[in-house]
Amino acid sequence: MEAVVFDGKTLSLKYEKNYPMPKVINDDDVIVKVEYSGICGTDLHIIQGEFPASKERPFPLGHEFSGVVHDAGKKSIFKKGQKVVVDPNCACNLCDFCRNGNYQYCTTAGINSTVGIWRDGGWAQYTRVPQIQVFALPEPITTEQAGLCEPYSCVSHGFDRASPLFVGQKILVVGAGIIGNLWVSVLHLHGHRDVTVSEMNKSRLEIVKNLETGYRLITPDVLAQEKQLYDVIIDCTGVGKVMEINFNYLIQGGKYVLFGCCPPTHQASVNPFQIYDKELTIIGVKINPFSFPKAIGLLKAMGSRYVDYKKLGVKTYALAEYKKALDDLKAGTIAKALFKIV
Ligand SMILES: [Zn+2]
Ligand SMILES: [Zn+2]
Repeated sequence: MEAVVFDGKTLSLKYEKNYPMPKVINDDDVIVKVEYSGICGTDLHIIQGEFPASKERPFPLGHEFSGVVHDAGKKSIFKKGQKVVVDPNCACNLCDFCRNGNYQYCTTAGINSTVGIWRDGGWAQYTRVPQIQVFALPEPITTEQAGLCEPYSCVSHGFDRASPLFVGQKILVVGAGIIGNLWVSVLHLHGHRDVTVSEMNKSRLEIVKNLETGYRLITPDVLAQEKQLYDVIIDCTGVGKVMEINFNYLIQGGKYVLFGCCPPTHQASVNPFQIYDKELTIIGVKINPFSFPKAIGLLKAMGSRYVDYKKLGVKTYALAEYKKALDDLKAGTIAKALFKIV
């Protein structure tokens, strides 16, 4: 079968036509015929050697994918042909973190056992996953929409961490890559209207317009000139310096939501007096613990009003076009690339 394979020893990618087809091994295995499979910012970090991933042998990356059931083990509840989406992360169910419902802190599971990072993922025509990580898609959600379920599950966890968010609060979203756009769609769905989006790449800012939210779209230099203050800042950039600058734009009682992953080498200085004086809160958000049911709920509620590849700046590519996908992503002409696998 076709796959885009990552070699952790040489930090290189390769398109393969004859990667071995997965088979049911365990009774609870599901073989998913992948239809949509995203390229995530984390994948770019992995390819650059900035984020840990398996080096054991070359394997297909891809931790954001949807498709249909191709085959299933004897004890599986899934049936051939069912539309499904896969949560790449799971709990170990043994440590206190997992048993408390926080598998994002787990030292063996969570991000340490992710499908597409530590085992064969979805940049392939087929992949094998345990059924505990498989979710049936209710109508009318399409596998195309569910290609964004994993990033939405992370945003859903971030939304929970940032809550309560009151309608009427002044919110700043920093960074209008796909994560910024997904936040924009979720905030708008929930009724938030006083939202500003800051992004330095003007073509990305143009993409946000497609969501027709009426949100204020500006570049960081405008933000710096205005010196307006916000109740909530959602930083989707993964850049330490951005936090250092934007932290100054919080109003009394404000919350700074640091969404996603900065490279571990980044630093940001903040002023502790400001934290005291304004009673500020810093909120970290890591992956998507038990957030798939909520993300599926979001997909259903948002429908094509929001979850539309054109509106979100998502472009699809064949597996063989992986180089073009990565180039377009780096150039910022698209917000996100997904493989459409037929
Ligand atoms: Zn991801
Ligand atoms: Zn655990």
